[in-house]
Amino acid sequence: MIQREKLSIEKSVPGRRGVRVLPASRPAADWLPERALRQHPPRLPEMSEFDVVRHYTRLSRLNFSLDTHFYPLGSCTMKYNPRANEAIAALDGFTAAHPSAPTRALQGTLEMAWRLEQMLCELTGLAAFTLQPAAGAQGELTGILLASAWHRSRRDHRRTEILVADSSHGTNPASATMGGFAVNTVASGADGRVNLAAIRAALGPQTALVMLTVPNTLGLFETTICEIAQAVHEAGALLYLDGANYNALMGLVRPADIGADILHFNVHKSFSTPHGGGGPGAGPVGVAAHLVPFLPLPRVIEKNGRYILKSSARKSIGRMRTCLGNVAVLLRGYAYLRSHDAVALRGIAEDAILNANYVRVKLSDLYPAAIDEPCMHECVLQTNPEQMRGVKTLDVAKRLLDYGFHAPTIYFPLIVPEALMIEPTETESRETLDAFVAAMRAIHAEAMTDPEQVQTAPHHLPVRRLDELAAARNPTVAWGATIP
Ligand SMILES: *Cc1c(COP(=O)(O)O)cnc(C)c1O
Repeated sequence: MIQREKLSIEKSVPGRRGVRVLPASRPAADWLPERALRQHPPRLPEMSEFDVVRHYTRLSRLNFSLDTHFYPLGSCTMKYNPRANEAIAALDGFTAAHPSAPTRALQGTLEMAWRLEQMLCELTGLAAFTLQPAAGAQGELTGILLASAWHRSRRDHRRTEILVADSSHGTNPASATMGGFAVNTVASGADGRVNLAAIRAALGPQTALVMLTVPNTLGLFETTICEIAQAVHEAGALLYLDGANYNALMGLVRPADIGADILHFNVHKSFSTPHGGGGPGAGPVGVAAHLVPFLPLPRVIEKNGRYILKSSARKSIGRMRTCLGNVAVLLRGYAYLRSHDAVALRGIAEDAILNANYVRVKLSDLYPAAIDEPCMHECVLQTNPEQMRGVKTLDVAKRLLDYGFHAPTIYFPLIVPEALMIEPTETESRETLDAFVAAMRAIHAEAMTDPEQVQTAPHHLPVRRLDELAAARNPTVAWGATIP
């Protein structure tokens, strides 16, 4: 029998106190207007300080987190984030810097931003980066506004459409729509890649931008990407590469060599920041030389070893965010890149790819890969409910929790039925991968002998199957909310 966690209010004992607050020297009733005064005392739990600490520590331990569990969430890159980077991000000199301070008082922050930009240029071959966007999706919007400004500067006003792949991350079509463009979705071929012929057929004088995720959301490299880039440019459009999962490419491919005009990074995925639940993030956007004049302002410029902020440029799309961007996240990315040399960065990509392929090969007899060939940083496997006595991907994901593993991303990409999208990342050991593989195989065996056990999982957690839609639509996160 699973015991429901008690709410703090249920642990309340009348009169119990953590700290005793001294009465105010001037009671509020003396100076607050009548209507602002409370009619009833607040309904707060009465607990000792120690009980409060225990309560929240217990709750935190019910979470699945990177610090406690393998977390193979495909497309999200949940990997170990070095603690040293946290210490660096917390340095007073950075956290206490005021954005409006004169630039001579901000030299350290500006130098960090400038050096980070140089490193991102080196990794990609692109001409310049803006560090402003606060997330991958905001980076996409920035890139789309850049493309829009570029076409307008050429007085080409016909370009009202953006092409995206049907395997694209959901943010791509959303950002395109937000940028004011019509979205044209291009179907993938049977090999899980964007179909070159379909792209060629869809390109035209109306095409502003082609947005592709590389590697794509099936974890596959787009093998015709150079031909696609050529076709895009011949049509007068620009090529946007979604580089959110750059740990698959780092040191192996330079997007500028492919012909990318615009690319965003997810610093919080590839370059270490603990993320999840929507933040914090940074989505720097890099551009080829012809788009540099349109980049957001301000830009950090180096002059004889001093760093200044360039705050005006005739063609700039303006600001995407206040100040320089999400400095604490950028700092972690900077520390991460500085603590690896070029060989080590390439090794990160190679290990991420190796780990994903290891899992794919070890499981593909029971959970066939959607496309059975070497993948990049993640593999997309499938559950076969017909073969597994009605057990579906959702059931496998829930049962994994009982085995002590965070579930992979499921039912994404949308073009793969019963998808399990597994990204082990480069930071996991062989032993962890073997344990995960063993759990997946054990779940398969359970499905064959006792499918109901899998279909009713999880059995060992404080809550069973929640109404996920309701949880997302009507979250009750406030204190005092009742749990059904
Ligand atoms: C995560 C991700 C995004 C969106 O990034 P956010 O920082 O969550 O906005 C875009 N594209 C791909 C491929 C991603 O994996």
